[in-house]
Formats: sequence, structure tokens, C-alpha cells
Amino acid sequence: MGNIVAIVGRPNVGKSTLFNRLTKSRQAIVNEVAGTTRDRQYGKVEWCGHEFSVIDTGGWVVNSEDIFEEEINKQVALAIEEADVILFVVDVMNGVTNLDDHVADILRKCKKPVFLIANKSDSNEWQYTAAEFYSLGLGDPYCISAINGAGTGDLLDEVVAKF
Ligand code: GDP
Ligand code: MG
Repeated sequence: MGNIVAIVGRPNVGKSTLFNRLTKSRQAIVNEVAGTTRDRQYGKVEWCGHEFSVIDTGGWVVNSEDIFEEEINKQVALAIEEADVILFVVDVMNGVTNLDDHVADILRKCKKPVFLIANKSDSNEWQYTAAEFYSLGLGDPYCISAINGAGTGDLLDEVVAKF
């Protein structure tokens, strides 16, 4: 099946928006309301002669953060098992949440390459705010904007270098 990249993170951080940008589709449902991606979505990405599959994780059908934990555990476990590279998306406009901490705890123990993605960095100023994600213990965050595409090319360069 080739290389697989999984997008994980708590609801509403922009995973589906990133999936759509990477696959240049409107395949994944993006919504203002957290919890709209019902199923795992698979798509194809081509970047600089590399082709890989990308998975948008989701599966939550409820809207309260504390009951997401069990669901997110499943999604992250599957991603670790299935993917060659993991994109852990956080929301720079929201800062670090307990659920981010929880996912980071799991990902720090996994042997696969993990990219910490500070999404919603719609302008350069957000890089200063993004520095707080360093506390997650997964290295420097990559500042991107899934909405306007800022930083996504540099990120893809780094991702395909892991294959
Ligand atoms: P998911 O639950 O993680 O899949 O998040 P979605 O992709 O559904 O996005 C949740 C919300 O964040 C939507 O309102 C998106 O339009 C918004 N969003 C996603 N990416 C960005 C971004 O780069 N910048 C801004 N400002 N909003 C974003
Ligand atoms: Mg989604």
C-alpha cells in the first residue's frame, strides 16, 4: 500500500481541513461543530515524486471533550499501528489542552516519527504563541495554516524525507 501518514489530534483542531488541503479535495467533512468526522477517511497525496496515503482520523459523535478520551485512545493506537508517519495536530489559537497532553503522552512513547503541527497559524505572529507547544515534549512545532496553506509545503518536504 506504500507509505501511510495519519493525522491525529483532538476534535476541532483542523485535521479534516489539513486532510482536504493535502489531498486537494473536499472529501472530509469540515464543520464548525467538533465531532463531525464520523469515519476514517483515506486519500492520496503526491509531493515531489513521492506518493503516499493519508488518513484523517475521527469517529467521535459526541460534543463534550471529556468523553472523547476513550475514542481518541483508539484512534491514536490505530494510527501508531498503521502509519509510517504521524501528524499530531494542535490548535495554536486555543493553546495546550488536557486532551493534547493526553495524546502527547501516548505519542512520546511510540517509535514512529511524529510531527507536532501547530495549526491555525494563519500569520507569522502565531509562531510566538506556538512555542508553548514545546511543553508537549515532541520537539519544535511546525506552524501551518490548513486554511491558507502557509507552511504546508515545508511540512510535506520533511514528511517525505522520513520515507
Ligand atoms: P477536525 O475536527 O480536527 O477535523 O477540524 P476541522 O477540519 O473540521 O476544523 C475545525 C474548525 O477549524 C473549522 O471551523 C475550520 O474551518 C477551522 N480551521 C481549520 N484549519 C484552520 C486554520 O488553519 N486556520 C483557521 N483560522 N481555522 C481553521
Ligand atoms: Mg474532522
